[in-house]
Amino acid sequence: MTSALRSLEQIPVSRLKGVGAAMSDKLAKLGLETVQDLLFHLPLRYQDRTRIKPIGQLRPGDEAVIQGTLVSCDLVMGRRRSLRCRLRDATGQVSLRFFHFSAAQKNALKPGLELRCFGEARPGPGGLELYHPEYREIAQEAPEPTEQRLTPIYPLTEGVTQGRLRNLCAQALELQVQQCGLREWLPEALQQRFSLMPLNEAVTYLHHPPVDADLHQLSEERHPAQRRLAFEELLAHHLSLLRLRQQQRSQGAPALNAKGELEQRFLAQLPFALTKAQQRVYQEVGKDLASPAPMLRLVQGDVGSGKTVVAALAALQAVENGYQAAVMAPTEILAEQHFSNFRAWLEPLGLTVDWLAGKLKGRKRSEALARIAGGESPVVVGTHALFQEEVKFHRLGLVVVDEQHRFGVHQRLALREKGEAGGGQPHQLIMTATPIPRTLTMSAYADLDCSIIDELPPGRTPVNTVLIADQRRDDVVERVRAACQQGRQAYWVCTLIEESEALQCQAAEATAEHLAEQLKGLRIGLVHGRMKAAEKAAVMAAFKGHELDLLVATTVIEVGVDVPNASLMIIENPERLGLAQLHQLRGRVGRGSVASHCVLMYQNPLSQQGRERLRVMRETNDGFRIAEKDLEIRGPGEVLGTRQTGMMQFKVADLERDADLLTRVKAVAQELAEDTPRVDAIIRRWLGRGERYAQV
Ligand code: ADP
Ligand code: MG
Repeated sequence: MTSALRSLEQIPVSRLKGVGAAMSDKLAKLGLETVQDLLFHLPLRYQDRTRIKPIGQLRPGDEAVIQGTLVSCDLVMGRRRSLRCRLRDATGQVSLRFFHFSAAQKNALKPGLELRCFGEARPGPGGLELYHPEYREIAQEAPEPTEQRLTPIYPLTEGVTQGRLRNLCAQALELQVQQCGLREWLPEALQQRFSLMPLNEAVTYLHHPPVDADLHQLSEERHPAQRRLAFEELLAHHLSLLRLRQQQRSQGAPALNAKGELEQRFLAQLPFALTKAQQRVYQEVGKDLASPAPMLRLVQGDVGSGKTVVAALAALQAVENGYQAAVMAPTEILAEQHFSNFRAWLEPLGLTVDWLAGKLKGRKRSEALARIAGGESPVVVGTHALFQEEVKFHRLGLVVVDEQHRFGVHQRLALREKGEAGGGQPHQLIMTATPIPRTLTMSAYADLDCSIIDELPPGRTPVNTVLIADQRRDDVVERVRAACQQGRQAYWVCTLIEESEALQCQAAEATAEHLAEQLKGLRIGLVHGRMKAAEKAAVMAAFKGHELDLLVATTVIEVGVDVPNASLMIIENPERLGLAQLHQLRGRVGRGSVASHCVLMYQNPLSQQGRERLRVMRETNDGFRIAEKDLEIRGPGEVLGTRQTGMMQFKVADLERDADLLTRVKAVAQELAEDTPRVDAIIRRWLGRGERYAQV
């Protein structure tokens, strides 16, 4: 680059004609600070002003250029005073309607004038009308040409008109030519390999598409020019996640070598052998732990695939090296479940397992905190209370986070802070049963390594799912009775539209009472989120010990509850839950060897979409297929939760629409990753100066 050429990202918008301090401020609201920003401020849509439409061919809703002779211009005194002009060409007549107009304007609109107008045709009392059309007088002897290109419509902000923005973008496009364009950061060979349109060509095209552009393709955002930009944007996001990952790695972590002694004793006392998939994933985890860079691994495994054992093995590897392991679950119930599992597994090995949750108070809390800080408890299980300020670890080597999707990326990153006392970052093992579709693991989760437990322990029978309308509630109740009389146990899950936990709990209470009347002789328990931890634990223990036949619950039992003898689950109003959540719930049954059933008791009428979603549940037990379907039906925002999508805002790309680009994006990111200046530039261009990820 010669010194006379300034990079477009360095030229502030104030350099453009007509942009003073006030305008600069307004543009900044749209995120437009430099000429490059303007070039990436792409039109929402386009108008075709390239052809003059015969008035006789106008249809309601058409946005069109018309041209004709003014035949009249009248003040109309209706409910609202307006100016109505009639315009005629060889094919017909149309009205132009103005509610706001000046006297000068009115006087200038003299019959006989030749006008060219642009506007949207709407039905009016006397035929089609154009409200407040743009219009211009045309000299008959030297008619002006029509526009040569499609007209862009830009996203606006207060105080910046469409005309103004069009003018600014046009200036930016001129500068683009003068300054030899935007810097192309994708190597030539790459562009060719993937047939990508050159960046400058793509940008110019999108601001000013030619007359014959495929408007439909543009509106679907599938045009090669749009795909080129989407590609680079996805690449920028991917690179920024890789960078985050690199930064994290560079901080170092304790190398926790597998010694194998605790592991052997642990495995020897387990009543089952690990599945092949568990062994493989444990190996992957073990290798990461032994490395001096912090592990950041996501273990995905369908409900019941046995992730907890893998977590326990990882914890042992930390303990054996003199480090602590923290196991965090999103709900108290799940944390308790882990606590009791870990105790049952680790105490026989002579290891103390500690417990920490928000509800642990007073002396018990301070004692637990002291044991954690003193390093007396090698393994600590709890809720997010584990990551409060006051909790200090002696030497934290491993953090296990269960059901990570509930926490969100931000919290995950916050976990890094803990345990620096141990010299470096703790390793992180993240477990989720909500399978994250591949498209998302490659974008939102690009900074994680992934392992998949793709096999269930032997002897599980798939859950048979049926859809039954609420009207047949009595039949369903009978079904519960029959199952329990045969010595089986059942869950009855209550859901409500309201997010309010209080209402959910009330509903569960009412349902439990009602069922108790209908099912005299059955032992019925109730568990919901508002109960004290000890109460909940007691009910869960009673259910597990088969002192209860039926457990009425809110969705608090969604994760982790493990009672193999429970073989029937009723879910009320399943249409209100996400598919992933339903799949989680359903995973509470089918844990033993008898055939299990899940009854989805929906409310009529079901929407088309509701029906389709529940059908997916009936047709498959495969969590990955369900997740893909969920993504298809609801989109990534809902599937990932707002926390995660909050940071995944794309200007051009769309994770679903551009899913096919992700494999290529990933490959390219790996090729470019070492080229720091290039990576910096791409990230800066798309994610802005702040580089958001670094700050979460
Ligand atoms: P999830 O992956 O849903 O968290 P869990 O770890 O809770 O699954 O395991 C579900 C149940 O399967 C538990 O009762 C656990 O003890 C049991 N389990 C785990 N691994 C095996 C295995 N290899 N063989 C038999 N049962 C297993
Ligand atoms: Mg689990």
